[in-house]
Formats: sequence, structure tokens, C-alpha cells
Amino acid sequence: MFEVKNIEEVNLAENPVIAQMSKYNHEQLLFCNDNETGLKAIIAVHNTVLGPALGGTRMWAYNNEMEALNDVLRLSRGMTYKNSISGLNLGGGKAVIIGDARSMKSEALFRRFGKFVNSLGGKYITAEDVGISPVDMTWVNMETDHVVGLPGKSGDPSPVTAYGTYMGMKACTKVQFGSDSLTGKKVAVQGVGHVGEYLVKHLVEENAEVYVSDIHEPTLKRIAKDYGAHVVGLEEIYDVDMDIYAPCALGATVNDDTLSRLKCSIIAGAANNQLKQEDIHGKAVMEKGIIYAPDFAINAGGVINCYSEVKGMSLHWSMEKAQDIYNTIEQIVKRSQTENVPTYMIANKMAEERIESIGKVKLPL
Ligand code: NAD
Repeated sequence: MFEVKNIEEVNLAENPVIAQMSKYNHEQLLFCNDNETGLKAIIAVHNTVLGPALGGTRMWAYNNEMEALNDVLRLSRGMTYKNSISGLNLGGGKAVIIGDARSMKSEALFRRFGKFVNSLGGKYITAEDVGISPVDMTWVNMETDHVVGLPGKSGDPSPVTAYGTYMGMKACTKVQFGSDSLTGKKVAVQGVGHVGEYLVKHLVEENAEVYVSDIHEPTLKRIAKDYGAHVVGLEEIYDVDMDIYAPCALGATVNDDTLSRLKCSIIAGAANNQLKQEDIHGKAVMEKGIIYAPDFAINAGGVINCYSEVKGMSLHWSMEKAQDIYNTIEQIVKRSQTENVPTYMIANKMAEERIESIGKVKLPL
């Protein structure tokens, strides 16, 4: 029989969900189940002080519910920091749909999910993430207006992400070399997909010497030919005699192994979760005299593009906003040097400070 306990008697250790929420101060979790469509999802709203919680929906075949819960809690918190450091009036949220994206998708499942998103009344705004396509989002949109990144709206975020990354790279270059010119700088771009290609274009236009690697041979050959970039091997990229390493493919490429090889003095790329272990490798990078542009700050062009859709702004507006990434990264790096604290910690602090100060503005008069 269900036993009702007094609040005081509830031991958080017995209740891993609330305990995990309170650990990183999440506001709300919505567990979604629908037996008819097979929908099993969790929507996490981490923080709405700055505005509605925006973050994508991921569809993934998690091994168990705890794995899904951990992921949605971690990712939604990450969105709060990303949205805050980017100066957007958005909080952080994320959703996960538990299931195989290749076999479980249906119109009904996504429309049902859309109904759950809608039930939050705009507190959470969703978008595409891993395992989700524009068509899936069109179905979600049939049940809720709280969706961005729809076909025909703000479009592919990659040009904005690449431009922001390029601007952040220039800011690092200014602090490290005294001038933000990339002319003649040797830049190694790992991964020349959507973002990587646009980044290479900016770099070549500024006469940087560009090295590229990619697992997809035809893309690699095309980029080398179209932009005059030097092709290097998948492993060789870490040993290139370079000024700047720009990871634009995978996470965790800044690790014990690569750090003993990387000859660069700047790490500035678009990939998510570049540091294998933030605390260890964030510090190690600083001790080697490398300037690391925190990934969630430098790759914020994507979310800026989403925000433009929420606000009905143009691509031109998004590009101008992405230009601000230059100032944000410069501020982070300078403060890191003054306070002798790794850049990723400074970026976290700056994001928290903004939430705290704007939280005060929002108090009733
Ligand atoms: P993408 O899939 O279009 O491109 C990734 C490229 O990396 C592909 O060409 C792939 O073949 C290549 N690749 C995969 N494994 C590799 C390896 N071991 N070595 C070299 N290349 C490898 O993805 P994208 O949209 O260009 O995003 C790139 C990164 O930036 C991802 O980490 C993504 O999460 C992050 N990001 C992207 C955006 C955006 O707007 N697209 C926004 C924020 C962050």
C-alpha cells in the first residue's frame, strides 16, 4: 500500500529523482508516457529566470531510465549556461525521447509529445537535437507553437555557428598574439561538416593556412580542392605544427593523450564537450599556456539562430549577435588570466552572475 510520509521524513537518498534535481537546482521535470504511441519522454526545465527554457529534443535508445534522466538533467543545465553567457533572454531546458530513432518514430508519437510540450504553456521551447529531423518537428508543431528550427523558418544554424566560432577564434588570437588577424596563422580544423566548412571559408578568406581532417573522404577531398586546404590524417591532426586547433566534429578530443601532442597556443572550435574532463583538462590546458575558448560560449551561434526565430528576427540579426561572441570570449579569456582560473570556470561564473543580477531586475517593484 502507498504510504504517505511527512515532508520532514522524506529522505532524499531514497528519492533519487528529486535529489538529482536539487543537486543542480532544476525547476521542473515532466515525465511523459503514452501507451498508444509508445512515447516515453522526459522534459527538463532547469532555469527560467532569464526567460522560457529553450533546448532541443534528443531521441536516443537509452539503456535505462536513469541514463535518460541523467542526460536530460545535464543537458538542460548546459543550456541555461549557454543561453545566459550568450546574452539571450532564455532559460535552459531539454527533452529526451527514450527509443530507437530508426524504428519508433511516428506522426502520432511526435504529436503526442507536442501535446506534452504544450502543456507547459511556453515555459519550455523545443528544437531539433540528435535523432530528430525537421519532419519530426513539423509534427510536434501541429500540437504546439513552442517549437523552433522548423523548415522554412530560421533554417540551418551552421553558418551562424561557424561565424560565431570564427569571431571567438579571433578574440583568442588577439589576446594570445596582440592582434586578431588570422592571416598566416596555421589553423587545423577537425571535421569539415556543416560548421567546419563554413569556418574553413572564413579562415581562407582571411588568408590563414588551413589544415583539415574528416572521416568522410569525398567531403575532405572537395574541401581541400575548393578552399586550398591541406589534408591531414585523423590522428595526424593532433601533431600538426599549428597555432590554432579547431575541433568541429567530436567531443572529448582535448584529453591526456592529445594534450601531450598539441603544439597549438589556442583551442577554438564548434564541437560540444571538447574537454574530456572539464576540471582536469580545463586546468591542464591553462597550465600549458593554451587559450581555450569554452565550447558552450563559442558555439552559441546555433542557439542565437533559434532565438531569432522566437523573436521573429532575421539572419542578419543572428549574424550580428554572433559577432558579440568576440567580446564574450575576449572577456572570458582576460578574466581567466587576471584571476588565474581556467576559462571554462570563468564562463560558468559569468553565466551564473548574469542570472543572479537579472533575477534581481525581475523582482516586483
Ligand atoms: P556535421 O555532422 O555536419 O559535421 C561533423 C563532421 O565531422 C562530419 O563531416 C564528419 O564526417 C566529421 N567527423 C566525424 N568523426 C570525425 C573524426 N574522428 N575526425 C574528423 N572528422 C570527423 O556536424 P556539424 O553540424 O558541423 O557540427 C559539428 C560540431 O559542432 C558537433 O560537435 C556539433 O554538436 C557542434 N555544434 C554544431 C552546431 C550547429 O549549428 N550545427 C551548433 C553548436 C554546436
